[in-house]
Amino acid sequence: MEIIAIGGYNEFGRNMTEVKVGDESVIIDMGIKLDRVLIHEDSDLSTMDSDELVKRGIFPDDRFVQGRVKAIIISHGHLDHLGAVTKFTDKYDVPIYATPYTAELIKAEKRYNRGFKGGERVVSVQPGEIIEVSPNIKLEFVAVTHSILHASFVALHTPEGVLIYANDFKFDDTPVLGETTDYDRLMELGQEGVKCLIIESTRVMEEERTPSEDIARKLLFDTLSKADEDSGLIVTTFSSHLQRIRSILDVAELIGRRPVLLGRSMAKYSGIGEKLGLIKMPKTTSVYGSQKAVAGILKNINSEGRENYLIIATGHQGEQDAILSRIANREFDFRIGKDDQVAFSANVIPNPMNRANRYVLETKLRIQGARIIKGLHVSGHAAREDHRYLLRVLNPENIVPCHGDLLMLSSYAELAESMGYELNKDLHLIRNGQKVVI
Ligand SMILES: [Zn+2]
Repeated sequence: MEIIAIGGYNEFGRNMTEVKVGDESVIIDMGIKLDRVLIHEDSDLSTMDSDELVKRGIFPDDRFVQGRVKAIIISHGHLDHLGAVTKFTDKYDVPIYATPYTAELIKAEKRYNRGFKGGERVVSVQPGEIIEVSPNIKLEFVAVTHSILHASFVALHTPEGVLIYANDFKFDDTPVLGETTDYDRLMELGQEGVKCLIIESTRVMEEERTPSEDIARKLLFDTLSKADEDSGLIVTTFSSHLQRIRSILDVAELIGRRPVLLGRSMAKYSGIGEKLGLIKMPKTTSVYGSQKAVAGILKNINSEGRENYLIIATGHQGEQDAILSRIANREFDFRIGKDDQVAFSANVIPNPMNRANRYVLETKLRIQGARIIKGLHVSGHAAREDHRYLLRVLNPENIVPCHGDLLMLSSYAELAESMGYELNKDLHLIRNGQKVVI
């Protein structure tokens, strides 16, 4: 069995891993690097071919792919795991396997390929089903919790043993929406024996157990229920985080404000979630995706009385083209009023681009009189104690840390060493383009 690091082993983002058994191989995840997208915001990325997107550091470098690819497997619906699929699949004419919500998101993804015709190759797989993807490789998704619904561990059953790809997850027993992690199945797999674990390392340096999404819900209720009744209230968060959006909708109901979701991605993620019955929105909720619709409702809110609404908008990282930045830039017939409250239900994803964008956004909002509220957030990624627990449950023979820069990967390696693993023996640090043979 060979594990080939294609993307996400030098950085946080653009995840892509190849697993090769004999001459058959599967690719797990095809993500993009989001801050590189923002750097190139002036150019129309959808007209570029995948080689150009690789050159710009947005796509993983698939020249590292070595085997005869039999399938593409997507672990969950975040862009750093699926954003490159629609363009890359022009090259790989194979089935694309994903859990139901992820599968629908792939079909709806038009960012880099407006004419994406691979929709019929997307296969929706329920967690627990076992699918034969090639003579030597069987696929199973194991349900886990994360900051998006239908996240999964990818288990590959092969003649060389079971490989588990755990990228991304947290252990959340009160996740607001959706199922909890399938602990029973993980224990079974651990008892049967796991040959190799490929594992995210993003938050391994945090010495805690990542708190439940229910804590974020309590923070939102505690803070927003005390918001000034007669001023505007805007909350910004991840549009893909339906658990979080559900909590914000519930607060809106409690304090008697009409929730409005603004932005194309808000409409996409919540629309697909509703279609699959994953989220039920209160009757008072309205969703505005197109620029024209957003402009129209903001004009109404501005004239009718902002105190009646709770605006849920894209733009928590200060992205230039998102709704909140455009409000701050006065691009709509909507003016931030003195003492309007703008709550960030997301932390800054730490890179210089986001920090700068957020600084600009917050400053513009403050100048116009807004009060900023931060900290209404908990992470979707496992921390050190969660990782320790998973290693105890799975007891893998080999470990390959992924999804992080060298500091994150080596911090995971230190944790594994403290639990008895040995570097270059059963613990393998690899960089993009390198491989490990097990
Ligand atoms: Zn994720």
